[in-house]
Amino acid sequence: MAKLEPVSASAIQTKLLIGGQWVDGLAGATIDVINPYDGSTIVSVAEAREEDVERAVLAAKAAAPAWGRMAAHDRGRLLLKLADRIEADADHLVRLEAMNTGHPVRDCMNLDLPRTVLCYRYFGGMADKLEGSVIPVDAGFLNYVEREPIGVVGQIVPWNFPLMFTSWKLGPALAAGNTVVLKPSEITPLSALRIGELITEVGFPPGVVNILTGYGHTVGQRIAEHRDIGKVSFTGSTNVGRKIVQASAGNLKKVQLELGGKGPNIIFEDANIPAAVGGSAFAIFHNQGQACIAGSRLIIHESVKDEFLQRFIGLARSIRMGDPLDTETEMGPLTSKVHHERVLNFIEVAKQQGSEILAGGRVPEGGALAGGYFIEPTIVTAEPGDRVSNEEVFGPFVSVTTFRTDEEALALANGVSYGLGAGLWTSNIQRAHRFAKAIHAGMVWINCYKRVHPGSPFGGVGESGYGREMGFEAMREYTQPKSVWVNVDAEIPPFYRR
Ligand code: NAD
Repeated sequence: MAKLEPVSASAIQTKLLIGGQWVDGLAGATIDVINPYDGSTIVSVAEAREEDVERAVLAAKAAAPAWGRMAAHDRGRLLLKLADRIEADADHLVRLEAMNTGHPVRDCMNLDLPRTVLCYRYFGGMADKLEGSVIPVDAGFLNYVEREPIGVVGQIVPWNFPLMFTSWKLGPALAAGNTVVLKPSEITPLSALRIGELITEVGFPPGVVNILTGYGHTVGQRIAEHRDIGKVSFTGSTNVGRKIVQASAGNLKKVQLELGGKGPNIIFEDANIPAAVGGSAFAIFHNQGQACIAGSRLIIHESVKDEFLQRFIGLARSIRMGDPLDTETEMGPLTSKVHHERVLNFIEVAKQQGSEILAGGRVPEGGALAGGYFIEPTIVTAEPGDRVSNEEVFGPFVSVTTFRTDEEALALANGVSYGLGAGLWTSNIQRAHRFAKAIHAGMVWINCYKRVHPGSPFGGVGESGYGREMGFEAMREYTQPKSVWVNVDAEIPPFYRR
């Protein structure tokens, strides 16, 4: 067992990044950033307000023409330098992320940090690969289509994977030649501020990336409605997603929404059960279940239910909860007190609706965990109409339903308003592909769960939002096509004969 040292408060950036300078908010207000392991205040960061959004947009607007014109490979080179710099800073970043989010440092080291580095590297390499096209049109004309940056984009990030999601937002936006006003969650702003420091260190021009720590109803709302922002990319809850769409209507800005999920995870009778058990535990319990793509609805074939559940419950009960800075910890606290109460409330709702609690369902008592926002890995039975089968709990909480036929399994999987991630475990290749096609989701995992890569499009359908992060799709999302017509040698007869 190794317990890593917390990052000292004096080494944590707490100001706003505007136009390449670290500044206080104009109102002089601050937000306390809480460590969910013990409820202590890590630091207080500057609280941006609407007037700071104006400053940041002005800086981003001033930086946009030169950044958009810069050779794409030079933008890419800066992103590659940033990836190297983040890698060198890994020790600091993973400790900061673990302290602020409650995410076990083991996961930060093995998943979040490498995925973050890979993302900046992927889009660094991508910057000069996004090509335009030449369209075969009428004789005598050349028609070419260029992809232009949008200009200033606003990016709003949630609290569940702040380091990684910041890279998913900044990577493609910057590679495509946009300048950015980014708002991390008020709950978990620290890793984004550190990334801001590294961005200035590796030489991004001032104003290309501006970071505002502040609340959603003030800073987030102003970003969404600002007339000089050409696109807003939002990751967060479906309800706030609706507000973003409304706020964006003023200047009809482009909107990209990565919202909630209620991922079905289907265990067929011919599944490799040990593999399905391990994969399904990762699907729901990784990051305390605080993942939009979590496999939060287990849909199990009746004939393998007992064997699957016996192993799954055993695994859930053995997950080591503890200090996120301890390298042996497998599950940390939930990220905030408010969210802790929300998940506990869902456990009460499940009980009231007649669910059987198969495992967990409690706050661990006493000992080293007493000061933190912990909840035991929780497994409950549920009926398809129950609230806990339809609403996103966003915690270490999974509902179990059984089925008999493939048709029943598909109806259960598609029976919610969300459509983000979905998993299925089977050794029947035809069924696997049939389901991959029929499931209402943006991402399907067959005999695995929650795989992501910067090359593969990420996003949902239905109330999980629209638009995609990652890959060429993301580069398209952060650009707009311009069609240019050239008369090369066409004779155009006059339209009006006089
Ligand atoms: P949230 O919607 O409360 O907040 C997300 C961000 O939006 C925060 O930065 C917040 O300050 C800001 N915000 C809040 N109100 C706003 C407003 N009126 N205008 C503009 N911005 C506003 O979500 P959360 O609780 O931080 O994150 C959890 C949610 O995010 C879950 O529903 C989860 O499923 C979803 N999520 C989705 C994805 C995805 O890719 N689809 C990924 C991660 C999380």
